[in-house]
Amino acid sequence: MNRKSARLAGRSNDARTGRDRSVFVLTCEHGGNTIPPAYRELFSGAEDVLKSHRGWDPGALRVAEAMSGMLGAILFSSTTSRLLIELNRSIGHRSLFSEFTGSLPTAEKQQIIDEYWRPYRDEVTAHIDNLVHAGYRVIHLSIHSFTPVWEGIARRTSVGLLYDPRRSHERSFCETWKTTLRRQQPDYTIHSNQPYRGIADGFTTSLRRQFDIEARSSGSYIGVEVEINQLLIYPSATRQTKSIAALLCQRHIASE
Ligand SMILES: [Zn+2]
Repeated sequence: MNRKSARLAGRSNDARTGRDRSVFVLTCEHGGNTIPPAYRELFSGAEDVLKSHRGWDPGALRVAEAMSGMLGAILFSSTTSRLLIELNRSIGHRSLFSEFTGSLPTAEKQQIIDEYWRPYRDEVTAHIDNLVHAGYRVIHLSIHSFTPVWEGIARRTSVGLLYDPRRSHERSFCETWKTTLRRQQPDYTIHSNQPYRGIADGFTTSLRRQFDIEARSSGSYIGVEVEINQLLIYPSATRQTKSIAALLCQRHIASE
């Protein structure tokens, strides 16, 4: 797990109080395809799978790093392959472990959970929890990329904003963001809840549940999975990565 600090407080909104203060928290669960030495034998011969979109989210971490700098937001990221353990799935989910790790004995699976899954989820959760309890509105952007072709069909989405449409504050944040993105970059296809549904099992989904129960006030936690088409960011020059990051950080969200 990597943690990159930046300014934590909201931008130029020091005069505001309570829920008016927004703080961005960025995460990147699928930032790399590293397998720790102790587990490499399980992946022998699987180098191609690890390099593919199944092993990681190509390009996502570089965009997340650029956004972190532009927004002055902290970034939590992992560069361990999702094929060891899937940080974006809950304990007990059938995709938490992959075909490489799913048949390990229970004790070994528990060890992987304790060493890789729990520290990541706990540290991010504790950080957001502190901010929410200090009265901030947290806007959590979980940065991902997706493969441009799925089961032989090209996906039309350029950028997908995944959220829970039943949560009005989250929906309104994303609808405004989507409108601005479409206006700024008419060539891109910006979708809500595509290519995946925002309410499917994931880190943001579990955090919504937790903070809605704890805070009993809507709006203290906004969780959005940002899914970027890999065609736009991988492989690509630094300039392209920065321009996607700049597009995502344009005025609307930077002034939140
Ligand atoms: Zn991902």
